[in-house]
Amino acid sequence: MNYLKAVLKKDHETKIKELKKLIILGEQLNKNTTPDKKKLEILIERENKTLGKKIAPIKIEKSVLVKNTTNKKTNYKFNPIQSIYTFENTIVINYTHNISKDIVRFFELKQKPQHKDVYDLKGAYSHVRGTKLKIKGVEKIVVGQFKSDTLRVVIANKKNLKTSYSVNNKQVVISIDDLKKTKQTPVKITKAKNNAVFVKKTDDFKNIYIDRKNSIRTVFTKNNTIVVQFNKNFYKRDLKYTAYKSNNRYQDIFDIKGKFEYAKPIKLKIDGLEKISIGQKNNSTLRIRVSDKKDYRVIYTLKNRELIIKILNLKTTNQTSSTSALPYANFSSKTIVIDAGHGAKDVGAVGPNKRYEKVVTLKVAKYLYSILKQRGHKVFLTRHKDRFIKVNNRTILANKKNADIFISVHANSVPKSKAHRIQGIETFFLSPARSERAKRVAAKENRTDIRKMSNSTKKVFLESLNRPRITASHKLAIDTQAGMLQSVKKSFKGVKDSGVREGPFWVLVGAQMPSILIELGYISHPIESKRLYNTKYQKLLANGIANGVDSYFSKNP
Ligand SMILES: [Zn+2]
Repeated sequence: MNYLKAVLKKDHETKIKELKKLIILGEQLNKNTTPDKKKLEILIERENKTLGKKIAPIKIEKSVLVKNTTNKKTNYKFNPIQSIYTFENTIVINYTHNISKDIVRFFELKQKPQHKDVYDLKGAYSHVRGTKLKIKGVEKIVVGQFKSDTLRVVIANKKNLKTSYSVNNKQVVISIDDLKKTKQTPVKITKAKNNAVFVKKTDDFKNIYIDRKNSIRTVFTKNNTIVVQFNKNFYKRDLKYTAYKSNNRYQDIFDIKGKFEYAKPIKLKIDGLEKISIGQKNNSTLRIRVSDKKDYRVIYTLKNRELIIKILNLKTTNQTSSTSALPYANFSSKTIVIDAGHGAKDVGAVGPNKRYEKVVTLKVAKYLYSILKQRGHKVFLTRHKDRFIKVNNRTILANKKNADIFISVHANSVPKSKAHRIQGIETFFLSPARSERAKRVAAKENRTDIRKMSNSTKKVFLESLNRPRITASHKLAIDTQAGMLQSVKKSFKGVKDSGVREGPFWVLVGAQMPSILIELGYISHPIESKRLYNTKYQKLLANGIANGVDSYFSKNP
């Protein structure tokens, strides 16, 4: 329309602008734009002549290219990546199915002023644009769909960070090894110290053959690692890693560019591991092969003149959990149902300045939903908006989805006379216990539907409670409560821990899985209610709950 208007008004500059827009749009729609481009050229020429000034011929090709990729809905046929997130010093990529180790390709870029470690992973992730990754201590992490079937993760930093990756079932974990909080293991011995340390302690390991002529200086084993030292700098591009299964053995093969004089006589051994073989594959490649009936996790790190291959989860090693790169060793995706308390006409508790419980519960529930989803869990919300749901209908979803846990999110309140005194975070789990305090909270949370439940129904429900479920719910409550407090206390002072409690909550009664009810705080308290409406605080609470949930699952897989 604007183009037509411009034509009518003979406004050449606008005409040029609008025509450019038309061409870009046409390119996006795969229309033939050649006539329009010709027209544009003529217009620009004419305009330059008449006005004696230069209008740069816009680089249509380039802008079209950029536009095309940014505007197109990424609707790949092949979307095997379920989630991507960071956890401590690692980037975790979850796939929908088991993957093999060769789906990862690594290379280094030294583009001043930053070093870049680039990981290309086979597969597409539909939410890649919305994914922001951050690890404290790393300047920049960029994740993007490099090609329709290749996801690229770039770790950029001024200082060259040591990174490594491991593949385990459905998960790729990229770890920034320089940031590990855990105690320094022998892996992290720096180049300078290295030679001195190892040469001095020759009795620590056998097979100390040193080749001073060729590029590979020495190869030896130490604890659960195979160490390859070089006489010159070694780069990841000079290493090829493959893994497969053959003859009923899992094989991890490292083809290392270079020559080692003593490949033949050397024998490598790691306790608990069936076999390590080493040999010169050809004149320029040394091959190290790790084979075992069990599929051990093998990771490697590289720094200047040293390659360290680490076999994880070996029973005999004395370095167990400290090296686990997964969120937790036995991580698996769980099904979690989150219930945002109250909704619509049931506003829940009301605090000063018309702060509503139903608003806070929905916000936190939604944040929790996305965090847990990002971490690779299957998550469902009982409500996504301001909607009324009966108390005894809230657990139906959880049972239908066969959820592993059920979390109901609420905010507490007390009458005005006590409002200034009472505050704090509390987590409840279902039990027949009837302390005065639990009774009071339960009465409030049960209010909407309790009258509809006959006394005999209540009795049946309470009797249906079984010990293992109560115990599991109690454990979940403890971890969640701890998670929330740890999370918020870093940024907010004066948050009170009001503890884990038990009580007869009807919203939890119908759930067949471990379930808890969280009181995020007292909406009646003037300061706490303000916090509860604070987005940052809501996110911290959600993050804390998620940490608690993962902590629970790490102990109760
Ligand atoms: Zn409530």
